[in-house]
Amino acid sequence: MPQLQRLAITAPQICDRKIDLTREQQHYLNRVLRLHAGDRFIAMDGRGHWWLAVLEARETGLFASIAEEIAVNRELPVEVTLMAALPKGNGFDEVVRQATELGVASIVPVTSDRTLLKPSDQKVDRWRRIAAEAAEQSERQFVPTILDPISFEFALKDSAQKSRYICVARGENRHLWDCLIGSFDPPFVGAVSPCPPPAWGELSIVIAVGPEGGWTEGEVKRAIEFNFEAVSLGSRILRAVTAPIVALSLVGAAFEKC
Ligand code: SAH
Repeated sequence: MPQLQRLAITAPQICDRKIDLTREQQHYLNRVLRLHAGDRFIAMDGRGHWWLAVLEARETGLFASIAEEIAVNRELPVEVTLMAALPKGNGFDEVVRQATELGVASIVPVTSDRTLLKPSDQKVDRWRRIAAEAAEQSERQFVPTILDPISFEFALKDSAQKSRYICVARGENRHLWDCLIGSFDPPFVGAVSPCPPPAWGELSIVIAVGPEGGWTEGEVKRAIEFNFEAVSLGSRILRAVTAPIVALSLVGAAFEKC
C-alpha cells in the first residue's frame, strides 16, 4: 500500500460507513495535508481499528466514506523515530532495511562530532528506495520517512517526541527495556489482557544511536538538556549498525508482547 496519511478519529464519528469529520479534522486533511475529494487516507480509532477512507465533499464541508477495514495491522502501536549517526561506508543501508522491518516510523540520519561528511543526495535517495522495498517485503502499511541528514544539534532541537532516549555504550545507565516497561502504563505495555493499540502519535518515542566512535560527552550532555534519557542496551559494546536493531527489537517486544 502506498504511504497514506493517518487521522485519529473516535468511534462515534462513524455512522453508516461514513466518517463525520470535525472542523479541525477537515482543516487538517484539506489545508495541512492538502488532501482533496477522492484522496484516500487511513482513519484510526485508537482501539486497533484502521480503515481505508476516501475524502468526499458536500456543500456543508468534507466528510469521508469508509472503503474497507484494514484487517491486518502490521504497524507498531507506538511511533518510533530512530535518530542514527551515520556510520562509515554503506553500513546505513542495512540500518534502514532492518529498522524498516522492525517497524520504525521515521529515520533521522544525523552527523555528529565523530561522524564524517554529510552523505550525497544519491545516498539519501538510495535509503528511501531501500525503505520502500523493505516496507513492501515486510507487508507494512507505511513506508518509513527517511529525513534529509541534519546535524545532531539540529535534530535534538527538532525532536517533539514524548519519550526520548539516547543509547550510550558505557556507563551506569538504565536499560532501555526498563525504561519502556516503566514509563508506559498498561494496557500499552506488558499487559496480559488483549491490548488495544493506541493510535500512532499518541505514543511517540525517539531513540538516538551514535556512530562507531560513540557520542562525545558533550553530545550526551546536550541530549540530556533536551530531555533525553541516557540508556544502556546491555553489557556488551555493540556496533553502530547493531545498536539500532537491538533498540527497535526491545520496543517491539515491549509493545507487542500482549
Ligand atoms: N566506540 C565506542 C562505542 C560506539 S558503539 C566505545 O568504544 O565506547 C556505537 C553506538 O552504539 C554508541 O554510540 C551507542 O549509541 C550504541 N551502543 C553500542 N553498544 C551499546 C550499549 N551496550 N548500550 C547502549 N548503547 C550502545
